[in-house]
Amino acid sequence: MECSTPGSVAQCLNDVLARIDAARRKAGRPPGCVRLVAATKNVPPSRIEVAIEAGLSIVGENRVQEAMSKMAVLKDRPVRWHYIGQLQRRKVRSIMGLFELIHSVDSVELAEELDRRAIQPGAPQDVLLEVNVGGEATKAGFEPEGLLGAMPALAALPHIRIRGLMTVPPLSAEPEASRPHFRHLRRLAQAIAGLNLPRVSMQELSMGMSNDFEVAIEEGATMVRIGTAIFGARHA
Ligand SMILES: *Cc1c(COP(=O)(O)O)cnc(C)c1O
Repeated sequence: MECSTPGSVAQCLNDVLARIDAARRKAGRPPGCVRLVAATKNVPPSRIEVAIEAGLSIVGENRVQEAMSKMAVLKDRPVRWHYIGQLQRRKVRSIMGLFELIHSVDSVELAEELDRRAIQPGAPQDVLLEVNVGGEATKAGFEPEGLLGAMPALAALPHIRIRGLMTVPPLSAEPEASRPHFRHLRRLAQAIAGLNLPRVSMQELSMGMSNDFEVAIEEGATMVRIGTAIFGARHA
């Protein structure tokens, strides 16, 4: 379907939700176990608003400034904000308390900064650890080989709560090419869960985008991050 015209957002959203549910059923997983996070970078608030009215409940933003200006416009809307982009340490202070979940914690240093700047007293900041499963030199994220070793230091940070893992696999036109990477992420989460560390749960696997989310759901995704299939191609 053409998803780039203003009137198409609701229809494309419903199409994506139906595909998520079909993949979930096909995988034999229970209802409600896969949540949609709409990736809204470069999407103006007016179009996000249409999606919210059509039933979207979580938006994921990639840039701090862009997110904050959209939050101001959409402040009365019943939507939850996630942060899915690369986060610079010097921006951490300005975002504390704004995001229900940060998907993209990609280093111990960033985790430490989040812990240091957390609003106290208050609920800990929920985060996911981003893993560079493809081992790409240009991509952010923990190296899969090093993550288990880093877990005790991460678990020792009292003001963040690690809820699971996130990945962006190498770009490919072929959805099946992502499957081994998604599987790798799931196995890594199982290994981390086996460490039984405090404040660490591995309930969430944030994986799957427009071109490969059905494969991700088959491999255990609990959150899929989808932009293009809802809002059309980005004209950055
Ligand atoms: C843009 C983006 C997505 C969504 O990508 P699409 O291919 O448009 O669905 C998912 N995750 C992250 C981190 C992104 O930056």
